[in-house]
Amino acid sequence: MPRLVLAAGKERSVLRRHPWVFAGSVDRLDGRARPGDTVDLVSARGEPLARAAWSPQSQIRARVWSFDPAQIIDDAFFKRTVAGAVARRACLPGLRGQDGLRLIHGESDGLPGVIADRYGDTVVLQLTSAGAEKWRDAIANALAKATGCARIYERSDSEVRGLEGLGPRSGWLRGEPAQPPLLIEEHGLRLEVDYAAGHKTGFYLDQRDNRRLCRDLADGREVLNCFCYTGGFSLNALAGGAARVLSIDSSGPALESARRNLEHNPQFPGERAEWRQADVFEALRELKRGERRFDLIVLDPPKLAPSAAHAERAARAYKDINLFGFRLLNPGGLLMTYSCSGGVGPELFQKIVAGAAIDAGVDARILAKLGAASDHPVGLAFPEGEYLKGLLCQVG
Ligand code: SAH
Repeated sequence: MPRLVLAAGKERSVLRRHPWVFAGSVDRLDGRARPGDTVDLVSARGEPLARAAWSPQSQIRARVWSFDPAQIIDDAFFKRTVAGAVARRACLPGLRGQDGLRLIHGESDGLPGVIADRYGDTVVLQLTSAGAEKWRDAIANALAKATGCARIYERSDSEVRGLEGLGPRSGWLRGEPAQPPLLIEEHGLRLEVDYAAGHKTGFYLDQRDNRRLCRDLADGREVLNCFCYTGGFSLNALAGGAARVLSIDSSGPALESARRNLEHNPQFPGERAEWRQADVFEALRELKRGERRFDLIVLDPPKLAPSAAHAERAARAYKDINLFGFRLLNPGGLLMTYSCSGGVGPELFQKIVAGAAIDAGVDARILAKLGAASDHPVGLAFPEGEYLKGLLCQVG
């Protein structure tokens, strides 16, 4: 097997079980390997450390499959690891009975570059690394076996594939082709998922618990849901008895899907929902010029800082929306504010929100720190796996 030899001292992070090997840590590759091939990862002194997938085009030159240097990486390995990830979810009480479930969360489930989301009897698979690409068949077979799902759809069109030298690839891998969207039930709400054309694999499963929390907070409140996508928070607010819900997103198709989601749940008073297609940054300013104020505001923007390099610009954007969020709240009002940027850590995010409250001239406190649902685990040695952070704030 080809050997990827690390530069002197660079084995430390691998010994601490961090699954990435950056270009700067590599001394040389002994032998020949094609993208995605399995290599033996060894220290400069030749000690075996792990088995990893080779990604020559990426700054992340190798991603660890196993920290056991003797582990054979074959179909059986993927069968076991995928089955383990699926079984993990089955024991978590909050996840039982959910139609929409993340089954594989990349590195945090020991499968770098692999995302798998289950929507009813369909699994949507996203592969983002050369190693994952090589094992597509083994992973699809393992998913079919572990879940018993009828269909597997591949949705590998994420931009990050470009960094690995991979082009986009989407289509049915297993089962009878079907037409999107499909309907899932989340905490009793029927929601549609367009796995072929929607964002990511079609839906933002990480926000499941926070949408539910929004329901519990909404009773009698005037609600503003910014970056509403297909209306998950909005429908929960209606389910929780909100007086009115104004939802804003810049995407026409997302808003059309949101309107249909309201029709899928005819038990809710649809006349209390108002959908607006607009840029949130502008819409918040316009709202501020008017009289209308809110008792509960959700701010769930897209990833504004994919990496630390974008953190400063992103910080200004987060500050901006949170500032207007605070300004638009009635006394006693609640702000559910989120960041899914890898480049903005929880401490920085709290600082930004605190700065926004000061500039808005409000006295605010944090009632709860919020994160992703438990089907999005974070590897202990892989803090990069924590994307979603949120704060529930109340103004005085
Ligand atoms: N809260 C949603 C997920 C939000 S994803 C849920 O629970 O499902 C982020 C959304 O922000 C996307 O729908 C995207 O269309 C929208 N978006 C991105 N930039 C925007 C902007 N400047 N103004 C308004 N919406 C924007």
